[in-house]
Amino acid sequence: MGLISVKEYKESLKDGRVVYYEGQKVGDVTTHPALKVCIETGAIDYEMAETPEYRDLAVVAHPKTSEPITRYYYTPQNSEDLLKRHELMVTATRLGRGVIPFIHDVGADVLNAANITANMMGKKEYIERAENYRYFLQKNDLSVACAMTDVKGDRMLRPSSPKQAHPDYYVRVVDKDKKGIIVRGAKAHITAAAYCKELFVIPCRNMTEEDRDYAVAFAIPTNTKGVVQICHPVTWKLGALEFPVDTPIRNHTDSLVIFDDVFVPWERVFLCGEWQFAMPLVYNFAYLHRHTAASYRIPISEVLLGAAQAMAEYNGIDKVPHIREKITNLVIYVDTLKSLARASCMDYVTHGGIPIPSPVISNIAKYHFAENFHDCVKAIENIAGGLLITAPTYKDYQNPETKEYVEKYLGGKAGIPTEHRLRMFQLIRRLATFETEVLALHAEGSIQAQRMTIYAESLSEIEKYKKWAEEAAGIKK
Ligand SMILES: Cc1cc2nc3c(=O)[nH]c(=O)nc-3n(C[C@H](O)[C@H](O)[C@H](O)COP(=O)(O)OP(=O)(O)OC[C@H]3O[C@@H](n4cnc5c(N)ncnc54)[C@H](O)[C@@H]3O)c2cc1C
Repeated sequence: MGLISVKEYKESLKDGRVVYYEGQKVGDVTTHPALKVCIETGAIDYEMAETPEYRDLAVVAHPKTSEPITRYYYTPQNSEDLLKRHELMVTATRLGRGVIPFIHDVGADVLNAANITANMMGKKEYIERAENYRYFLQKNDLSVACAMTDVKGDRMLRPSSPKQAHPDYYVRVVDKDKKGIIVRGAKAHITAAAYCKELFVIPCRNMTEEDRDYAVAFAIPTNTKGVVQICHPVTWKLGALEFPVDTPIRNHTDSLVIFDDVFVPWERVFLCGEWQFAMPLVYNFAYLHRHTAASYRIPISEVLLGAAQAMAEYNGIDKVPHIREKITNLVIYVDTLKSLARASCMDYVTHGGIPIPSPVISNIAKYHFAENFHDCVKAIENIAGGLLITAPTYKDYQNPETKEYVEKYLGGKAGIPTEHRLRMFQLIRRLATFETEVLALHAEGSIQAQRMTIYAESLSEIEKYKKWAEEAAGIKK
């Protein structure tokens, strides 16, 4: 039971899965140059379990057998467990240079959400299946991607609406028999699916009775017949024009995952037609996953703040009032995020018998990160100046004919090597990209999704405060 090595994880991916990258079918994901970098990113989880320094954080004893298992698949019992998991994600992301491994954490979120929903439903077979699946993951230490976001077609139409151009914009059950179900449809943006062993599929919205075929949740091996993935390209090496950096690049690709009439055995089905429970499943996953999101954004935010301060010092403007104001804003941004992410663990609530970080606070944490990220980027761009995009390249810095000019004229404050300044521009260019901006806005749900949750989950508090206000105003009812 329990833990697999980095080598075993990589070997396990040579399983005939169907993955396309830049228009080409990938035979073996472990040898593909770009996917290899993504796999190394995921492998951080397995490395941590093998490293004495991180072992206590990454590994726990199975509550029944006492054998070592990954902390991710351990069912949390209290705020201490939630805080440990939070610390694990922050540490893993620091090791990933701002990129979370993402091959256990999201799987744990969806597993816990399925467990909670099964408990809420009270259906014995679903409770057993969810528990068996947890045990299966614990025993085999498998990587899991969560496929929630449907391709959706017309966003204003329901999944079953006859006005949709076709009925497959949301994953649905097209057939079933004694052995299992057949599903069809596609999920978009599925992070790390190309290098996870399992795909956990859940609906992405509430359902009505007419949508019952779309109220389906299941888990299957990624190499199941009929599963096809199309990845988007990622940066996997530094460009020839960039300063070399010792630390390896870390990144993830996200797949369009197509389910082309895929068979799922009943023991792997966690929802099938119970449309009333699509929403609790989606919401509980979102509550858990937004906390994961808030946690893994902490290291990126810390490095952004560090880069802003370094750049201010290199340019000699760190004591200027408006620059200090910008740095102060960044400190407020980072520390608010950190405090909210931790507070949500301390102020946990229990859903379906499982403690989860406070939905209101974790949604505020994620919202805070996403809503203010572009302002942080703006502050850093402001501090850095135009050389952020016009600086000569590493090649120019290497060429003896131009190096002297670059060295002399692109220096900043005396005593700061020009190379440091150029390297810091490069780092900021990598941190503040169009991709990181879109990721902030949409990954783990759009800004509006967080606002909706914050409002809906706060209704009873709002009502309580209203009563207090009425009391304070002397209003008697
Ligand atoms: C980098 C990245 C990684 C991701 N990883 C995963 C993953 O691993 N697994 C997964 O399942 N998903 C993943 N996602 C998907 C993510 O959750 C979605 O991008 C997000 O939910 C928004 O959905 P969408 O991209 O389809 O945009 P849309 O739903 O098209 O949203 C675009 C805009 O339209 C608005 N909108 C949409 N529908 C309505 C409506 N009915 N009424 C009013 N307004 C509406 C939204 O609020 C938003 O402002 C990832 C996304 C990104 C960018």
